[in-house]
Amino acid sequence: MKIIMLGAPGAGKGTQAKKIAEKYMIPHISTGDIFRANIKNGTELGKKAKTYMDQGLLVPDELVVDLVVDRVGQDDAKNGYVLDGFPRTIPQAQALDSALEAIGEKVDYAINVEVPDENIIRRMSGRRACVACGATYHLVHIPPKQEGICDTCGKELILRDDDKPETVKKRLDVYHEQTQPLIDYYTEKGILKEVDGTVDMADVFAAITDILGA
Ligand code: ADP
Ligand code: ADP
Ligand code: ZN
Repeated sequence: MKIIMLGAPGAGKGTQAKKIAEKYMIPHISTGDIFRANIKNGTELGKKAKTYMDQGLLVPDELVVDLVVDRVGQDDAKNGYVLDGFPRTIPQAQALDSALEAIGEKVDYAINVEVPDENIIRRMSGRRACVACGATYHLVHIPPKQEGICDTCGKELILRDDDKPETVKKRLDVYHEQTQPLIDYYTEKGILKEVDGTVDMADVFAAITDILGA
């Protein structure tokens, strides 16, 4: 099962993608996580990506596409995967489609997690991410057991630099301009599925499993 998560920054793609990955036993592939790991490790890719991410801009397609095509070609992705944060532009979607077409495969579902902009700013200011394992929490909605500490690995939780309100506004603009057109793109392909992302995260997940099947 090959799944793409669509939605504004903060819509809950990562939260749901992790649950999908667990239930259907497929890898969760997050381009944001891949870039953040590269930044942390001080790689060339990380250095390049950071200049864009800090401004709330997308990393250029040519730095993203090969990375993802390579990742989905790995052994653990044979039975499918859930892509979180990719594609984010039409050229990225086309590149993925042609790479899959070349090996006789295709994306099965594009799940759009729908959350209005007003909710997003509020959500992002409460997002806290683990510095070590990438687990995500929310101060109000999904709090860690102990304030500021990751339930999973015990390390520190932080507010991502790009989750500050000024940057979130920029990311939303970028989303509407460059990523939202993917909704039409996948609608035309007949694989777009919409879920309401404003409800409880367990209810969002129930809507998703209804679509994917038990
Ligand atoms: P969010 O979870 O809030 O949607 P991500 O963690 O997916 O954010 O991405 C963080 C940042 O990483 C983006 O704002 C962008 O700069 C960069 N990024 C991630 N995925 C892509 C992509 N597919 N194309 C271009 N830039 C990307
Ligand atoms: P994305 O990957 O789309 O950027 P995340 O999954 O990181 O979004 O979620 C953004 C923030 O909203 C996080 O703090 C997360 O804990 C919280 N969140 C996710 N789903 C819900 C939900 N259904 N209701 C309330 N808060 C949520
Ligand atoms: Zn952790």
